[in-house]
Amino acid sequence: MPRLVATGCPSCGDIGEIDWSPPTIDGDDLPPFLAWAPLGTDPVTLGEGRTPLVPVARWGDRFGLSHARAKLEYISPTGSFKDRGTAAVVTHARAIGAGSLSEDSSGNAGASLAAYGARAGIPVRVYVPESASGVKVAQISAVGAEVIRVPGSRRGVTEAAIAHARDTGGYYAGHNANPYFTLGMASLAFELAPDPPDHLVMPVGGGSLFVGVALAFAAMGGLRRVTRLHAVQPAGCAPIVAAYERGEPVVAPIDRHATIASGAEIETPPRGRQILDVLALSGGRAIAVTDAELLAHREALAHAEGIDVEPTAALALAGAARLRARGVLVDDESVVIVLTGAGYKVAS
Ligand SMILES: *Cc1c(COP(=O)(O)O)cnc(C)c1O
Repeated sequence: MPRLVATGCPSCGDIGEIDWSPPTIDGDDLPPFLAWAPLGTDPVTLGEGRTPLVPVARWGDRFGLSHARAKLEYISPTGSFKDRGTAAVVTHARAIGAGSLSEDSSGNAGASLAAYGARAGIPVRVYVPESASGVKVAQISAVGAEVIRVPGSRRGVTEAAIAHARDTGGYYAGHNANPYFTLGMASLAFELAPDPPDHLVMPVGGGSLFVGVALAFAAMGGLRRVTRLHAVQPAGCAPIVAAYERGEPVVAPIDRHATIASGAEIETPPRGRQILDVLALSGGRAIAVTDAELLAHREALAHAEGIDVEPTAALALAGAARLRARGVLVDDESVVIVLTGAGYKVAS
């Protein structure tokens, strides 16, 4: 039976390991979302998962990717793929009787937790850096969650969220380490299982998406077998790419620069080691792209296909185009690009 292990975050440590079994996939018949996960029978759901998979040939033709398809994760209840993981986390939190939820994120994870917490009737506090502003913070407050601004370092924001959970007996729902969050991500791979692509290209920050998807492919018969998993990071914050290029098994500190792809700005991903293992096992590549590249692809996709994604999501588009230019992707192989977040998430 596959196991999923927590990554040593202080408040999730007691969640320990999860034993779980992958669903049986029979033709195109998918089991209900997360019905296979060890979460009990009373899911907290807003209708997440089962997102569309559409060809993006008008975009792809220009880059030798005419067979590319996109998994439209931005068509999720709160506008990002994070809802898959949040549904699992909040279901678990409610099942164990959590009285409150806390998280440190000014972005999509916070907006997602705020909505699912409201749905479950559990108060949510989202700790954000003092500088946080804009659409995502508005999205968090709109569903009644409390936004607490923390001056100082990003690390301090995380510590405040963990301390709140510890002091109040609440549940720290930090998405970068919580194993239920990662398990929720596996659902994406099961949706691709009836027709698995040769390549899957994903943006990577903390790697919950990347590792969760890998977990599912591994459970379905091995990572080496069918689909190569590629990781794309912003050039300004690319610790996985740096370790991958040096052939090192662990993620080391990096020199970091500003990037518009804020959803993938994780300097020391707790799952770094696992991400590198998955790259090696699945034969995937880790590559970095510049802000200029991802913005150009964001616009090209929007104009060619009518699909407007947020800058972090456009990492995967720019990454796929680069992998094609390097000959890692070839035109008659199938590729799925995961579009993680909606364009309306950022003020223009
Ligand atoms: C969080 C996020 C990512 C990065 O996902 P990880 O699971 O942290 O690697 C990518 N795109 C968007 C839009 C996000 O919100």
